[in-house]
Parts: sequence; structure tokens; C-alpha cells
Amino acid sequence: MTVNVEALGFDELEIGELSVLFDDQPPEEIIGWAIERFGSRLAIVTSFQAEGMVILDMATKLDPHIRVITIDTGRLPEETHAFMEQVRNRYGINIEVYAPDAEDVRRMVTTHGPNLFYRDVTLRLLCCQIRKVRPLLNALRGLNAWITGLRREQWASRINIRKIELDHDHGAIVKLNPLADWTHDEVWAYLDAHDVPRHPLYEKGYTSLGCAPCTRPVGPGEDPRAGRWWWEKDAPKECGMHCSIETGGLERELEALLKES
Ligand code: SF4
Repeated sequence: MTVNVEALGFDELEIGELSVLFDDQPPEEIIGWAIERFGSRLAIVTSFQAEGMVILDMATKLDPHIRVITIDTGRLPEETHAFMEQVRNRYGINIEVYAPDAEDVRRMVTTHGPNLFYRDVTLRLLCCQIRKVRPLLNALRGLNAWITGLRREQWASRINIRKIELDHDHGAIVKLNPLADWTHDEVWAYLDAHDVPRHPLYEKGYTSLGCAPCTRPVGPGEDPRAGRWWWEKDAPKECGMHCSIETGGLERELEALLKES
């Protein structure tokens, strides 16, 4: 991805200083700062999980026209589409929907079948690359900053996230994680206090939401992310949208797939 030159008003040192400054700031302050600093070159990227809804609620109160982006992988549960409608109506917003490239999907499914992800981790990561990571790259093109609902306590790979980072996987634009230090309980207390709509699958025992074939409800005492790619052992419970996941196998597979074109 080409580097977004306008975003380079910041270097690592300045971002480091801002991250220290932001670390004890409430999320609204950080979101407000970002709206002022980046205007229409800022977007929330959300899959409408509880954290994303906190961000969306806070941000639309500060700027009703803030851009909201989501990735429709083509394998989302119907409940997510219904919830998207609900969110559009409740907040009076347009949601920018990015989808995978149809040719990439056709090639992948022709070669490996529609449910390739169950066979091995490399094929699962290939599917995530085609259906999530690449559409996200397209969505972020032209932006100077994006806001996520990531929290440190969600998974080991997220433990070191800062509230503001330079996102080198996406052209060194600014990535904001205003809820980085929030707990699960704080998220749900906010939803209750502000009457924020919540995705209907939470009521059915889901604790993390994603594509229908790769997500299931979790049992009592299980890790909240245990329902994602539950059949995999010792694999990262990440898709590559928030951190690059590199395995030789994935790179070779992706390269081979793309060479077919
Ligand atoms: S979560 Fe599953 S269906 Fe969705 S993109 Fe990843 S592997 Fe494919």
C-alpha cells in the first residue's frame, strides 16, 4: 500500500508522545481530537460488536456526519445485516460497506471450496486475507486515520496496543484505539447507560462476532474469543486486519492465487 503522505504530519516520536498524553484520557476526548484533526479523512471501522457500538455512539454525538465503514465478507450472519439496518435507522447514518473482490473470491472458492477455512490454518488465513484484509486495505485508502474498538484485555496479541499508533500495515496512517484500557464490564455499562443497541447474537451466547461459519457461542468460563475459529489449536485468534499475520504458507498460497490472474 502506498504511504499516505498527508498523514505523515506525525512521526513515531510524536505518536509516542501523544500516546502517553492520551493514555489516561477518556475515549470521548480522543475521538473529539481525531474529528478535529482529521475531519472527513477519519472513519470508524466497525463490525458492530459491543465495543464498536460504544465508539459509534460516542463519535456520532460529537459529529453526526462521521464516516462509518464496515467490511461485508460475504459470510456474515443474517443477524449482522439486520443489525446494520437497525444502527442506520437509530443514528441516521450512512454506513460505507466494503466487500471482497469478486474475482479473488471466485478463484479461491473454485480452487479450495467454499468452506476451505476448516481444513487448515493457512487456508483460513487465506480466506481472511481475501474476505477481510484486502477489503480493509481498500477502505482505508485515502484516509489519514481510523478508529477501532480494540481493547487490551481481549487477546494476548492486543495487550500492547496504544490509544494512538502509527499503522504501518496501512500506509502509516494513524490508528486510534480509544477503548484500549476499558474492561468488558465498562463496555457493557456504557451500552446500558446510553441505551445503545446491541447485536442480537450476544443474547444467544456469542461473546465475539464475526463470520457465520467461523464463530460460535462460548460456554461458561471459556475465553470470550474462544468462539472464533474454535476448531484451531494454537493458532492466532486474529484475521490479520489488526496485525499482520505472516506464515510462509499463507504468502505462497496468496501469491499462487493471485498469479492465476
Ligand atoms: S472469518 Fe472465516 S469466513 Fe470470515 S473471512 Fe475469515 S476464514 Fe473466511
